[in-house]
Amino acid sequence: MAAVSKVGIVGSGAAGLTAAVLLADAGIDVEILEKETGPSPLGSGITLQGNALRIFRQLGIWDEIAAKGFAFSELGFRAPDPAGTVLSVTDDARTGGADLPATLGMYRPDLADALRRRAVNAGARISYGTKVKGVEQDGSSVTVITDDGDRLSYDLLIGADGLHSAVRTAIGIKTEPEPTGMGIWRAFVERPAEVVRTDLTYGGPCYIAGYCPTGDDTMYAYLVEDAQERSVEDGPKIMAGLAAAYGGPWKEITASLDHSARVNYTRFTAHLVDGPWNRGRVVIIGDAAHSCPPTIAQGAAMAVEDAAVLAELLTNGEELNDALWEAFTERRLARARTVVRGSVQLGQWMLDGEIRNADVPGLIGSVAATVTQPA
Ligand SMILES: Cc1cc2nc3c(=O)[nH]c(=O)nc-3n(C[C@H](O)[C@H](O)[C@H](O)COP(=O)(O)OP(=O)(O)OC[C@H]3O[C@@H](n4cnc5c(N)ncnc54)[C@H](O)[C@@H]3O)c2cc1C
Repeated sequence: MAAVSKVGIVGSGAAGLTAAVLLADAGIDVEILEKETGPSPLGSGITLQGNALRIFRQLGIWDEIAAKGFAFSELGFRAPDPAGTVLSVTDDARTGGADLPATLGMYRPDLADALRRRAVNAGARISYGTKVKGVEQDGSSVTVITDDGDRLSYDLLIGADGLHSAVRTAIGIKTEPEPTGMGIWRAFVERPAEVVRTDLTYGGPCYIAGYCPTGDDTMYAYLVEDAQERSVEDGPKIMAGLAAAYGGPWKEITASLDHSARVNYTRFTAHLVDGPWNRGRVVIIGDAAHSCPPTIAQGAAMAVEDAAVLAELLTNGEELNDALWEAFTERRLARARTVVRGSVQLGQWMLDGEIRNADVPGLIGSVAATVTQPA
C-alpha cells in the first residue's frame, strides 16, 4: 500500500511525466493537468547527462531515446580563434555509471514524446488545456482550482509546472527565478559530419560558443552573450554575425543559419527553494523548485531525479507524513544546491572576466562527483 492513491500533477514537462510513469506503474491513479492544448511539435536540442539517462533507463525508455539521439562520451574545448584550434579532448564523466554514455544529445520533442507515451501506457491521464490557478488543502486532501473554475481533488498535488510555477505561488513560497545576466541563442540545424561530441569555446565575442549533436543529421548550436533585448526574427542573422569569429564546424553551422533556421533566444535564471519543497499535501519539483543556467547542463537531470526520488518515497511509504518529507528534503536539497551553485559560479566567472584563471575542471569535476552518486 503506497502513501497516496490519487495524485494530481501540474505540468507535463520532464519532471511531471517522470513522476507520472513511476506512480502509475505502482498502481496509483495519476492525472496530469497541462495548460498547453497539446504536445508541442517544436523545440531545440537538449544535452542529457548520464545521471538523467540513468533515470530514463529506470523508466524503460533508454533504448528508444538512444536510437533517436546521439550518444557520446568525450568533451572538447576549442580556442576562440578563426581556426577553432582544438585545445583538448577529454573523456567526460559518466555520471550515470560506466554502462551508460556520458551524454546523449536529443531533439527535445522526441524526448517529450517518449516520456508522454510511456506515461499514458502506464495509465496516467493527461488533461490538456487545463491551467491551474489556485490550490486549497485540508488535512486529508488537496483541491486544485483551474482557470475554468473546475475543482479537482487529490491525496497529493505535485507542482511540476516549471520556472514560473503557479503551484509554488499558491502554497506561499516566495522564492522566484532571478536573471543571471546572460542570454543564449540556440539554433537547431543540420549536423556537419565533424560534429560528433560537444565542443565548447570560452571567449571571443560570446562567453560560450558550443554545440551538441542530436541525431544522425541534426545538432544544436548555442552562443551565450550578455542578456539583452533581442529580436528573434533577426536571430539567424545575429547568430551568424556572432559565430563568424569561431572556426572548425562553425563555418558550416553558420552557412546553415538562413531565415528558415529554427533559432530562439532565452535569458538564464537561477533559484533554489532553500528548505522543504512541500507545504502539507502539495510539493514542487523540477524547475518549480530550482533552476540554473545550463552551463553544466544539469537542469533536466535534476528535474527527473526529483521525480524519481519522490515517486520512490511515495510508493515505498505507508503514509504521507513528516518523515517522508524530511527524507525527500534530505535526498534532494543539498544535491540541487551543489548543481545550482556550480552552474551559477561558472557563469559568474565568465561575467567577471575570470574564467581563464578559474578552476573550471575542478568545479565541473566536483559537481560530476556529486551527481554520479545515485540520487
Ligand atoms: C536555454 C536553456 C537551455 C537548457 N539546456 C539544458 C540542457 O541542455 N540539459 C539539461 O539537462 N537542462 C537544460 N535546461 C534546463 C531544462 O530545460 C529544465 O530544467 C527542464 O526542462 C525542467 O523540466 P520541468 O518538467 O521541471 O519544467 P518544464 O519543462 O518547464 O515543464 C513545466 C510544464 O508545466 C506546464 N505549466 C506551467 N504552468 C502551468 C499551470 N499553471 N497549469 C498547468 N500547466 C502548467 C508548462 O506548460 C510545461 O509543460 C536548459 C534550460 C534553458 C533555459
